[in-house]
Amino acid sequence: MTERAARPHFRGCDVMRSQEGVWVAGRAKLNLGLAVTGRRRDGYHLLLTLFHSVELHDWVLVGRDDPAAAGPAAAPPEVRWVCRAGENGVHRAQLVGAGREREAVLSRCLGAELVPADASNLACRAVVEVAGAGIVAVRRIIKSIPAGAGLGGGSADAAAAWRAAALLAGVTRAAGRGRGEGEELIRRAARLGADVPFALTGGAALAAGIGEELVRLPPLDFPVILVKPEFSLATAEVFGWYDEDRERGQDGVPTGDVAGAGGDATRFREAVLALAQVLAAGDGKARRRRFARYLRIWGRELPNELALSVYHRSPQLEVWRERLASSSALAFGLTGSGSALFALAEDDDHLERLWGELVRPWTGTGRPPSDLLPAAGEAKATSTSAAWAAPAATALLIATRLWPGPGLSYRFR
Ligand code: ATP
Repeated sequence: MTERAARPHFRGCDVMRSQEGVWVAGRAKLNLGLAVTGRRRDGYHLLLTLFHSVELHDWVLVGRDDPAAAGPAAAPPEVRWVCRAGENGVHRAQLVGAGREREAVLSRCLGAELVPADASNLACRAVVEVAGAGIVAVRRIIKSIPAGAGLGGGSADAAAAWRAAALLAGVTRAAGRGRGEGEELIRRAARLGADVPFALTGGAALAAGIGEELVRLPPLDFPVILVKPEFSLATAEVFGWYDEDRERGQDGVPTGDVAGAGGDATRFREAVLALAQVLAAGDGKARRRRFARYLRIWGRELPNELALSVYHRSPQLEVWRERLASSSALAFGLTGSGSALFALAEDDDHLERLWGELVRPWTGTGRPPSDLLPAAGEAKATSTSAAWAAPAATALLIATRLWPGPGLSYRFR
C-alpha cells in the first residue's frame, strides 16, 4: 500500500545533536484510564490514571545560552507548527468537516494560539529548573502535539527540554552533582506540571497522587487515531465542571454511562486498576488477550471520570464520542481533561479501515484524499447526514500509535 511505503521509520531516536545544540523529542501521552480519587488541601485533584505515550511528538532544541544575553528570557524560542504526515513522526493527519477558512480552523484545532513563545513556555521553565538561568536556552520548538487537548504537549516539551538541558549542562557544569535524579528529580519535575515526571521517561505507567507517583508498566502496542476538535479545554476548568457536577449531587450529575461505570466513582477506580492489570505482566500476546477480556467486561469506552462532565457541556465532543462508539474502534475514550478523543485499532490494516470510517462522511470515498496539512484540497462534506456535515463536528484527525518510551527500539512496519 502506498501510504505504508511513505511511513517514517523510527528507532527510538529521541535525541539528536546539531551544531546549534541538542534536539530532544517530547512524546504526547494518552490517559487510557482516569479516576478522581480525592482532593488535596491546595485544591489539586488526586488521580488514579493509566498513562501511555504515543508516537506523536514535538521537537525541542536547546543550545548554550548567549553569554551576551541576560538569560533565557532575552532570547525567546521560535515556535513552529508542523502537523504533516511523514514529518515529525505524524503518521497521517487530516482536517475533516472544515468548510471555511481552512488555515484558521487548522490553527484552532492545533490550539496554536495557546502556546507561549516566551520564557513562560514550559520548555523554557524546564531548562531554568535543571540548569539555572543563563546556562542553556530553548532555541526552537517544533510542535505537532495539539495544545489544550489532554495530550500533554506542554509536559512533553518540558521533559524534552529538561533532558536536553541536562545533557548540555553536564558538559558545561562540572560533574553534574547528581542533579536531576531519583525522587528529587520527580519532585522538581512535578513543580513544572503534574505530567512532567511521566513525560521524562514515557512508555506506560499507573500514576497516583496528582500524577507524580508512578508505577512503570510494560507498554502496549496499538495504532491510535486522535480526534482533536476545534476547541481546546483548560484542565483547571474541566476539574471545575467536575466539582460542580459532584456538588450538585445526583440531580446535577449528568446521566450517562462511561465505561460501564454509570458515574460511580468506585467503579472508575476499579476499571482503571483492571486496565492496569492488562499491562502488568506477560508477553504481548497474553496482554492482548487480557485486553480483549477487559473490553468484554468493561466495554469499549475506556474509563475517564471527567468525561461525563465534558460531554455534557460539549455537543461537538458528544458527536465524536457517538461516532467512535459506532465505529469499529477496538476501544476509545477521552484523554485527560480533553478536548481530544482517541480510538485504538487492532493493527495497521484495521487502522486503514477505521481511518476510512471516520473520514468517509467528508470524502464519500472512505479513502483519505490527502496526507497533508495544511495543504490545499478542501475535504468536502458529501454526507447526507446533517450532523456529520455540520462545522460543529470539524476536527483534526491524527493517526499515530502507542509508543513504548525512549530507550526502546521501535519501527513502523
Ligand atoms: P495536560 O497536561 O493538563 O493534559 P494539555 O495536554 O491539555 O494539558 P498542553 O498542550 O500541555 O495541554 O497545554 C496546556 C497549557 O500549557 C497551554 O494552554 C499553554 O498555555 C501552556 N504551555 C506552556 N508551554 C507549552 C508548550 N511548550 N506546549 C504547549 N502548551 C504549553
